[in-house]
Amino acid sequence: MRLTAAILAARTVAALSRGLRRGGGTALPGLVAERLDPGLVPTLAARLGQGSALVTGTNGKTTTARMVRGICRKAGLRPVANREGSNMMRGVAAALAGSVRWDGSFSAPKKRIGIFEVDEATMPLVARSVEPRAVLFTNLFRDQLDRYGEVETVATLWRAAVRSFPAEVTLALNADDPAVASLSDVALGKVVLYGVDDETQAGGSLEHAADARWCYACGSELEYAVVFYGHLGHWRCPGCHRARPTPDVAVSALTTANDGMNVTLRTLAGEVSVRLPLVGLYNAYNAAAATALAVALGIETKAIEQGLAGVTAAFGRQERLAVDGREVQVILAKNPAGVNQVIRTITADGAPKHLAVFLNDDIADGRDISWIWDVDFELLSGGVASLVVSGRRAWDMALRLKYAGLGERPEVEHDAKLALRQAIAATPEGGTLYVIPTYTAMLDVRNILGRWSGRGAFWEGDAR
Ligand SMILES: [Zn+2]
Repeated sequence: MRLTAAILAARTVAALSRGLRRGGGTALPGLVAERLDPGLVPTLAARLGQGSALVTGTNGKTTTARMVRGICRKAGLRPVANREGSNMMRGVAAALAGSVRWDGSFSAPKKRIGIFEVDEATMPLVARSVEPRAVLFTNLFRDQLDRYGEVETVATLWRAAVRSFPAEVTLALNADDPAVASLSDVALGKVVLYGVDDETQAGGSLEHAADARWCYACGSELEYAVVFYGHLGHWRCPGCHRARPTPDVAVSALTTANDGMNVTLRTLAGEVSVRLPLVGLYNAYNAAAATALAVALGIETKAIEQGLAGVTAAFGRQERLAVDGREVQVILAKNPAGVNQVIRTITADGAPKHLAVFLNDDIADGRDISWIWDVDFELLSGGVASLVVSGRRAWDMALRLKYAGLGERPEVEHDAKLALRQAIAATPEGGTLYVIPTYTAMLDVRNILGRWSGRGAFWEGDAR
């Protein structure tokens, strides 16, 4: 009774908020469902015939979870997934309540698998509720300081959670991130490690944004034979001799092609070679992460290859929209490490770029915007053909970009629509405009561009 009422209420609220065009990431349906039946998540999760997997970490959750869902479908499974941006408990509740029949049963229950992307700090709570078969940890970067405090706080939280997992839980861990790889020290169950072996992808030295530079066990400063980006690389500790473990799934070759890249992954069951419609080493990491999680779930190589080959860009992750004869790419800016990767990727060919940068400071963006000073915007110096700055903190961003050597006076326009019009007008026909917004700005940007490109509002058809 209680369960049915909760499901009904969640569905009604979801339908109403879609009708009111409140956006796809609304937390309300899940919140309502959880209030009405606090047991909803464990009850419905237990009815998923193939159990659940969680995807957590600072960067790459959305794209990786999307890849894993594609792989699961090719393996004949029917994934249940939460919407991007709803990665707290209520997002999982909304996903489950929205996928069952009124009586709380799933259609094709034996094929159902939960693939939930969860916030770093919420992961232990969600894990207790859904009792996952596998948990993927992507990486740990400094994100929104006002929400989480130091990176070390999250690392400690994760170690405690992993210690509490039963031995049946398989972990998929990034071998190249020392804080993530070291979770294998405390895991009771199996571990599938992934990483990048292709040393030609090395990015040089540690960036401003490198966070986990010290050994969690002995406190020594880690040494790197190769740094890919941030603190990801081939690390070792000179103090206690811990070192990057050999990955079970490794990016053995990566070549960038027009509008995409070819990635070869070495796995214990053979090679996986795919062409992705995404670029950037961080997306190769996402493909390796998705493969590791699929291996942890016992999915065969063929389905992994087919699933990755069918991947499309998630909204705000190199999705390409056609507007007025220009290609517009929206790339979410979340944190210094993520933005550094975006800048490296888009400047790789050396041609001057047309840019629009949006900085907001809502809770979902991070209230403290000092992180923009940790981004290596200097890499763009001399490589910008046009630049429009917008968002509530546009002037802060304009100042940062001025110090990065991107001109004395960037165009500042607070109104998102006008800013996009200016940026599009400054981009020649047939050219590409890169729009780099923080999270809440992305919701506005995507809705405006969605209308202009005839693609529709973002929640229509994105999340699943
Ligand atoms: Zn050490």
